[in-house]
Amino acid sequence: MSLVTARDLPSPNHDARPAGTPIDTLVLHYTGMKTAQAALDRLRDPAAKVSSHYVVDEDGAVFRLVPEQRRAYHAGVSYWRGHTGLNDRSIGVEIVNPGHEWGYRDFPVLQLAAVCDLCLEILSRHPIPQRNVVAHSDVAPDRKEDPGERFDWEGLARNGVGVWPEEVPDLGTGGAVRDAASLRDVRRALSEIGYAVAPSGPLDPALAAVLRAFQRHWRPEAVTGQADAGTLARLLGVAQLVGDGA
Ligand SMILES: [Zn+2]
Repeated sequence: MSLVTARDLPSPNHDARPAGTPIDTLVLHYTGMKTAQAALDRLRDPAAKVSSHYVVDEDGAVFRLVPEQRRAYHAGVSYWRGHTGLNDRSIGVEIVNPGHEWGYRDFPVLQLAAVCDLCLEILSRHPIPQRNVVAHSDVAPDRKEDPGERFDWEGLARNGVGVWPEEVPDLGTGGAVRDAASLRDVRRALSEIGYAVAPSGPLDPALAAVLRAFQRHWRPEAVTGQADAGTLARLLGVAQLVGDGA
């Protein structure tokens, strides 16, 4: 039984998932277009070759574009926890918001509630561990920033969707580590959470991009690309949660 009322707006942009691949990842996006209609048109345009399983409008209306058993084209070149090409194994949800390019704004409460209900249903239908509820920016940190730092990951986790470390002290943005020896631990923690990171090296642009992705998801107060004290505290908090089997 489904509690979420989704309106069917079929997109032609899907194909078969590879045989034997589990659906074990949920990727959240923002649409990043000026209007919901423009996003829906593009996600249903055969020439665009992009799609998602669902779109959630700002008023909480849910549209189903692609059946969950089919592969939609939302994640592109991507990586999480040892897997690439996450379209094969994921459900994609596009959340209407103009995004950083067209006037990034808060996600309305009704929209967040609809996203939460939809995600809970998706999690009930598939073997998706909480730690595999991710942002597009988590799986493609070098080229994506959606759904971004205004998305309420903490609230979502409190309602049973995704991972959020409780009771982590706010240590601020000082105390950033930059030497390669300390950054080795940062790299290890990011890798344990699921990001694509090299095991060692300085704070290069690739690591800064992953740190920004981490911050957009788990430390939205300051998206700096720096391994500051507050970011480290959250990083260790998330790493411990996923290590405990989240
Ligand atoms: Zn996206």
